[in-house]
Amino acid sequence: MKILQVKTSSRSVAIDITHEVQRAITEAGFSRGLSFVYVPHTTAGVTINEGADPHVMEDVMNTLDRLVPWQGSYRHTEGNAAAHIKTSLMGNGVHLFVEGGKLVLGTWQRIFLCEFDGPRTRKVHIHWINAL
Ligand code: ZN
Repeated sequence: MKILQVKTSSRSVAIDITHEVQRAITEAGFSRGLSFVYVPHTTAGVTINEGADPHVMEDVMNTLDRLVPWQGSYRHTEGNAAAHIKTSLMGNGVHLFVEGGKLVLGTWQRIFLCEFDGPRTRKVHIHWINAL
């Protein structure tokens, strides 16, 4: 298991962490099995989506901003209810297969840490389970 620290730069931003996840898998010498990438936060999530066109994740984040506005009639008094809701919509973990030491991803797929209440320093847990 490895824990990455990722600094986010604004309240709402998607950060491509594919390279860092692959590096952790490579450094662990992990060659075949299942990897689980988990974000242990209540106002940040993780997803897999297109990385070739950066507008895709901009559209995802902007759409979430429209669906769940920062100001609203929320009962959570901390002021960041929207970030909690967006995290539940996005989810906290993704599974990836690893073959030949490489993450199995489609041509356009990348892994994104999604910040919803930044800027902060976030943890990303990377676990792996060997296939026999
Ligand atoms: Zn809160």
